[in-house]
Amino acid sequence: AKAWILPKYFDGFPKDSDFELKVEQLPEPKDGEILLEAVYLSVDPYMRPFSRVRMKEGDVMIGAQVAKVVQSRNPLFPEGSHVISRSGWRTHTVSDGTGVILLLSDWPADVPYSLALGAIGMPGLTALYGLEEVCQLKAGETLLVNAAAGAVGMVVGQIAKLKGCRVIGSAGSDAKVAYLKELGFDQAFNYKTVQSLEQALREAAPEGYDCYFENVGGAFSSVAIPLMKPMGRIAVCGAISTYNDTTPQTGPFPHLTMIMNQIRMEGFLVGRWEHKNKESLRRLLVWKQEGKLKCPEHVTSGFENMPAAFMGMLRGENLGKAVVKA
Ligand code: NDP
Repeated sequence: AKAWILPKYFDGFPKDSDFELKVEQLPEPKDGEILLEAVYLSVDPYMRPFSRVRMKEGDVMIGAQVAKVVQSRNPLFPEGSHVISRSGWRTHTVSDGTGVILLLSDWPADVPYSLALGAIGMPGLTALYGLEEVCQLKAGETLLVNAAAGAVGMVVGQIAKLKGCRVIGSAGSDAKVAYLKELGFDQAFNYKTVQSLEQALREAAPEGYDCYFENVGGAFSSVAIPLMKPMGRIAVCGAISTYNDTTPQTGPFPHLTMIMNQIRMEGFLVGRWEHKNKESLRRLLVWKQEGKLKCPEHVTSGFENMPAAFMGMLRGENLGKAVVKA
């Protein structure tokens, strides 16, 4: 068994030397335990900020994986079944089943298991809850989403279109922008090459934005918030532009616009609505099966390439969900 550990906390943008590959000797599973083998592993932005708060130096990198039960002494997890496990960056895990979730029993044969880490998994749920619970998005409204060609953003835009909204997305390459337009986004632009972010946002929605699904934070937000309509809602999902900062960003925050326009801004974690996950995953799966939800993935092969896949995702190399095939 192999595992990737983080000997020292990240300092700035992660680099190769931050990660160490370790060989682990696993015990035989005891009564009630299972042996899991990673099939697909997730690399997600949260791993960067959470490494400081949920990990100690020397711990195995945190993260979820789709794993196969290869040995079972627990009747709840039959051998050969597939599960989602928060085992971290490990090839194999002996578990007593705590926090291990079986994939939907009727997971269709033509849907890759990797989607259980993406559009039919945590990022898809994040998109759904951010739109429905936090933004309370209604038909006919105009929505802005950034990091729109990523795992969460792409589902956000597609669900908003299904709900009859006008959707504007930003992403970091022309290829991503072209793909968003193919998906049916009403407007999309490359935030790295526009002359003025403010002008691009104004031109895309001269009437302003009812809802803003925030994945990026930092300077983007300072420009976008003043362009919200009165009674606008902001779902603060992520702030990836700040995750590698060594000193916290300070800067003008548009308090006055928020007051004058009575904007509601709410941070959220996907886990708040865990009790709804089963039915929500089914809704996502149905959209996928009906061809209404496209779920592109950026697949890196080989467990040894986990750090490269993680750093590549932070740099924006992924179109859709970034996963590693073990
Ligand atoms: P993505 O698949 O969107 O991958 C991250 C993307 O972020 C990159 O592809 C890159 O795309 C973009 N990015 C990187 N650096 C910057 C930057 N400085 N400015 C703007 N964009 C940047 O990841 P996810 O969909 O998994 O996550 C998206 C956001 O949602 C993250 O902020 C994450 O932390 C958050 N999240 C929050 C959850 C919650 O419960 N609140 C749950 C899951 C995710 P590009 O080419 O466009 O720059």
